[in-house]
Amino acid sequence: MPKKEIARIMRGFQQFRDKFYTSEDSPYRQFATGWQGPKTLLIGCCDSRVDPAVLASAGPGELFVVRNIANLVPPYEPDGGHHGVSAAIEFAVVNLKVENIIVLGHRQCGGIRALLFPEVAEPNGFVQQWVKMAEPAKERALKAFAPKGAKPDVLWRCCELESIKTSIENLRTFTFVAKLERAGKLQLLGMYFDIEQGEMLELNEETGEFSTLG
Ligand SMILES: [Zn+2]
Repeated sequence: MPKKEIARIMRGFQQFRDKFYTSEDSPYRQFATGWQGPKTLLIGCCDSRVDPAVLASAGPGELFVVRNIANLVPPYEPDGGHHGVSAAIEFAVVNLKVENIIVLGHRQCGGIRALLFPEVAEPNGFVQQWVKMAEPAKERALKAFAPKGAKPDVLWRCCELESIKTSIENLRTFTFVAKLERAGKLQLLGMYFDIEQGEMLELNEETGEFSTLG
């Protein structure tokens, strides 16, 4: 007998099947005979509270999602390594021809916390190593509050916002992304979900500021 939580997930799947496989016009009827065609790639965090499909009220097939610790995009590094995020970006842009890429950050991000305060992460672990790629965001956040400093919470939030910009900068190091953006065929967007306020903010790249959507 599965444990309580697994049983709940299995019941959830039954409900999903009842909802999506009973009607003739269900998107899954089309998926069975066709290919996926999402228009948007969303790069989000693994955080269990920040599920992109839930936040966007998106249906099946709408979002192509890659999630990782702290919603980071690595720079373009064609070095033969195992680059999962880069592979997802390439697949979405080159093969699926998405029209938008959203980098979705969020409040209370544990990955960004590990970047700012390495002592909270496993020493020399994968998380510590992974989040180092957002070091420029950390430097900008620290600089923004120098020389007076800031409360850890304020610094943390600032670094979460700055890391979205770092990810967008790194996205542009992928030649196929930069080329399509220049041609007006691909749009890059930075968003931030404030868990505490229940608000979605959007980055204005010209001003570097985030403002509430809608
Ligand atoms: Zn996070």
